[in-house]
Amino acid sequence: MAILVAAGFDADEWAQWWPLLQAALPNELLLRDRQGTAPQEIDIALVANPGAGSLRGLPALRLIQSLWAGVDRLLADASVPTDVPLARMVDPAINEAMAQTALWAVLGLQRGFFDYAVQQRERVWRQHALRRADEITVAVLGLGQTGRAVAQRLVQHGCRVLGWSRGAAALDGVACHAGERSLPNVLAQAQVVVNLLPLTPETRGLFNATRLAQLRRGASLVNLARGAHVVEADLLAALASGQLKHAVLDVFATEPLPAAHPFWSHPLVTVLPHVAAPTDPRSAAPIAARNVFALRAGRPLEHLVDRTRGY
Ligand code: NAP
Repeated sequence: MAILVAAGFDADEWAQWWPLLQAALPNELLLRDRQGTAPQEIDIALVANPGAGSLRGLPALRLIQSLWAGVDRLLADASVPTDVPLARMVDPAINEAMAQTALWAVLGLQRGFFDYAVQQRERVWRQHALRRADEITVAVLGLGQTGRAVAQRLVQHGCRVLGWSRGAAALDGVACHAGERSLPNVLAQAQVVVNLLPLTPETRGLFNATRLAQLRRGASLVNLARGAHVVEADLLAALASGQLKHAVLDVFATEPLPAAHPFWSHPLVTVLPHVAAPTDPRSAAPIAARNVFALRAGRPLEHLVDRTRGY
């Protein structure tokens, strides 16, 4: 049997991934495309932004292993078979990268470093009062793989940290809240909100005018999860009114962010090009291989997506 690597990689990404996947799966036949192979010979797909329809018509498929952490695009793709187990990438290296990015964003907001970047462009020498970490309350929305790592890093940094998830959670030093009814209270307490929710029908458009109005006036938003969590026009309005002080955005409704988008030059928006926690092929290739070995040996698969929950 063979493994189809269905990925929208560019040439550099293929050059990075291919030898690592081959090294991690030395006894497997890996295919970069389906040409020349009978569909019934392919029983595993390793996927990263696969082309439309690339998993259609594979009757022997028994595992779809995503090389990315987020699976919202796969779940939205009607050509991805729904009766085949779908596993997502869970890698401590992703959690560590996310914890670093969130700490950088919170530290930048705490100490005014994003304001100083604007001042530099305007040649303004102005010093702002120092704020200590323990004067900042941060709400981390989503306490999954990345959210927990982020919340823990912010506790270590000295912030007051609130966490929010669907089901009840417990995390040292974090005031955990669960369920939609508790969200207004969480948002009202935070000076910084870090979004690490999955994109599901419940969370799409969560940061709309109503939710943004529930934030404490002058709070900041750090979106490291998915662009579609935010209604961008409502975010711009909240920044214009002073309801929101600053937004640090790694993800956008349209990626790459279009050249004419107002976020690019907005003094209260810091833009990253979806780099908060990229998959590192050096650690991810062996992790993907673990599920291949588990399938071959008849052992339980790891990190399966619950399609009814949407994450
Ligand atoms: P995860 O492990 O699946 O965790 C999801 C968390 O969100 C869980 O705590 C879950 O609650 C909570 N949640 C889900 N639906 C909810 C709802 N309706 N109300 C309240 N809480 C809800 O996710 P992850 O791997 O940490 O990923 C988080 C996000 O980061 C995803 O959107 C992913 O695509 C994105 N991401 C971005 C990058 C980047 O580079 N920008 C990199 C990696 C991941 P329960 O614990 O109760 O289930």
